[in-house]
Amino acid sequence: METVAPPQPKTVPLEAKSPFEMRIYLGDDIPETDVRSALKTGDLGFLHSFTTGSAVDGPGLRLVAWTTSCMFRCQYCHNPDTWTLKNGIPVPLSRAIEEVQKYANGLIAMNGGFTLSGGEPLMQDRFAARLFAAVKKMGVHTAIETKGYYGDHLSDEELQNINLVILDMKAFTRVQHELVTGGMHNEDVLEFCDRLAELKRPMWLRYVLVPGLTDIPEEMKAVADFAASLGVVERVEILPFHQMGRYKWERLKLDYQLGDTQPPTGESVGRAIAIFSEAGLNAA
Ligand code: SF4
Repeated sequence: METVAPPQPKTVPLEAKSPFEMRIYLGDDIPETDVRSALKTGDLGFLHSFTTGSAVDGPGLRLVAWTTSCMFRCQYCHNPDTWTLKNGIPVPLSRAIEEVQKYANGLIAMNGGFTLSGGEPLMQDRFAARLFAAVKKMGVHTAIETKGYYGDHLSDEELQNINLVILDMKAFTRVQHELVTGGMHNEDVLEFCDRLAELKRPMWLRYVLVPGLTDIPEEMKAVADFAASLGVVERVEILPFHQMGRYKWERLKLDYQLGDTQPPTGESVGRAIAIFSEAGLNAA
């Protein structure tokens, strides 16, 4: 019987070709007391990797740091290796700042920027807040890709260091949110969106279109109406479901519910885009 792969050598490079690389056990040697201290201070973060040249994680070309740890268990997750904090590489904050500094001039010149994604970056909110403060000082555009559930872990001042919040909206109704995410409610997510609107912080919104799971017109209309009411959502991206993460579920021996699910057709993607556009949003 196949087993989960043994621990990988701890010499795995910080940069990866893409977040679809499977990475596990890389922070296993860090004692629990040091993990707790890292989460409290942000002196150390746990990262799946850095990737360069992303054109899909915010405006322009982006340097992206992918954090590990997530509170959700989405049925369609394509990076379940990022669910566990200690699957990530332990990276001192100073080392993460150096990595962004290396690319800072190029990112500025190309009107790109730095995006912190995951996993859920706000599972490591002190690391995220301190990294954003440092990157903002470099004059580099900053974005966070978050699920919003821990939005209250950032102060209003800390949010000012983030130029763009890319909110992965799983659903609008609680029951659908729980279905998609493995039982997690979305009250805090909606509250965080309202707070961003009050603070007039620019947002993008993402919605993963999964046939038979999220391809529900009423649900999408509810998300769209809510997003439009915020007045700060600059763009909506419909992300068609794909099977690129399937091998990770299999290797991690996780129960994958979507093995027979096909990507949505062009027509259904078009219908989803139309629902958001009809609500007055800039959807693609
Ligand atoms: S929020 Fe993202 S990283 Fe977390 S389980 Fe869902 S898809 Fe995966």
